[in-house]
Amino acid sequence: MSNEPLPILPGATLGILGGGQLGRMFTIAARTMGYKVMVLDPDFASPAGQMADVHLQADYTDHGALRQLGAACAAVTTEFENVPAASLIELANHCRVSPGAQCVAIAQDRSHEKSWLAQNGFATAPFALVYSEGDLDAGLADTGTPALLKVARFGYDGKGQARVNSREEARAAFREFGGQPCVLEGFIKLEREVSVVLARGDAGECALFPVAENRHENGILDVSIIPARVPDSLAQEACAMARDIADKLGYVGVMAVEFFVAGGKLMVNEIASRPHNSGHYTLDACVTDQFEQQVRVLCGLPLGDTRLMSPVVMVNILGDRWQNGGPHWDALLAHPNIKLHVYGKETARAGRKMGHFNVLDADLDRALRLAEQMRRAL
Ligand code: ATP
Ligand code: MG
Repeated sequence: MSNEPLPILPGATLGILGGGQLGRMFTIAARTMGYKVMVLDPDFASPAGQMADVHLQADYTDHGALRQLGAACAAVTTEFENVPAASLIELANHCRVSPGAQCVAIAQDRSHEKSWLAQNGFATAPFALVYSEGDLDAGLADTGTPALLKVARFGYDGKGQARVNSREEARAAFREFGGQPCVLEGFIKLEREVSVVLARGDAGECALFPVAENRHENGILDVSIIPARVPDSLAQEACAMARDIADKLGYVGVMAVEFFVAGGKLMVNEIASRPHNSGHYTLDACVTDQFEQQVRVLCGLPLGDTRLMSPVVMVNILGDRWQNGGPHWDALLAHPNIKLHVYGKETARAGRKMGHFNVLDADLDRALRLAEQMRRAL
């Protein structure tokens, strides 16, 4: 274990496992603050690698690369949900690592995550763990239909999920997923979805960003609206639950909690052990953004002010926009209150997150109208 004194100050090198857009925005924040950044990602065209001082192009389990990363960095974090917990443990022999392997291991596996939430008294959609076809009947008795069968690992953006209305459909979906471990979830009639991004430091200090209201399309986040249009009491409850989850996990780092709102009540959907797409509004609308916060908490610095400076609507830009020529950037950039973020990905595939934009306006309804208009015009 390295005994690098805290706080780790500018000039030091920070490492990140994963080189997608979240890693890219971490890298930009860290370099802005004067840190050097080393990215580990097997993909040579990594969005974060383009921005980093050093891109180690190797697998997340490559012992040589992990040793090199651990030796060069004062601290290492992750942007990639599926980084092997064993790699974090290995790295922790060399340098400070946050979040810890046991937290990442819970968040990256739906069956662990759901079980942990239930054991710790957090409301979730009714669910059952499915390891074999035989588990489906009892599972459906618990969840009712319709239900969603979700693969326990490596699902994202609604991938690895199937809606099922019967025993037969559940069996077919389980076979389609190759019989891998799954979670069966009751399908909830959602009133809204909200999320909370927070940072928790070594001494248990916590800073929460304002609650985001999220709209998904085809299982992919489409729009986030901040402040969320929910009663104050519900927003406060979401914050209290998110904080309680972080405390009970003993979490150190930036994390997000996604909630369903149904019947006026909150249910936890998922935990993400990293910054979150629904926190991208913080880049332009908060005093500190979620990536600076990730740098601060990784370095053992005091947490930044999370105050919202303006109502904001965030819109994701997906690869679909490239299907008939590229997006109409000119239309977007004509607006002085729109901030564009593009991730530098070389290939635009349908459903792939290519960038996002934030619409800032003192009047939230006006921001939402312009966001909708630009979403169509882009
Ligand atoms: P991401 O990692 O991008 O958040 P994911 O693939 O992990 O996505 P989930 O968060 O489980 O997927 O689901 C994506 C979306 O699908 C949810 O935000 C919600 O809109 C819808 N959804 C998921 N589970 C349920 C459910 N049990 N009932 C109703 N809607 C659901
Ligand atoms: Mg989700």
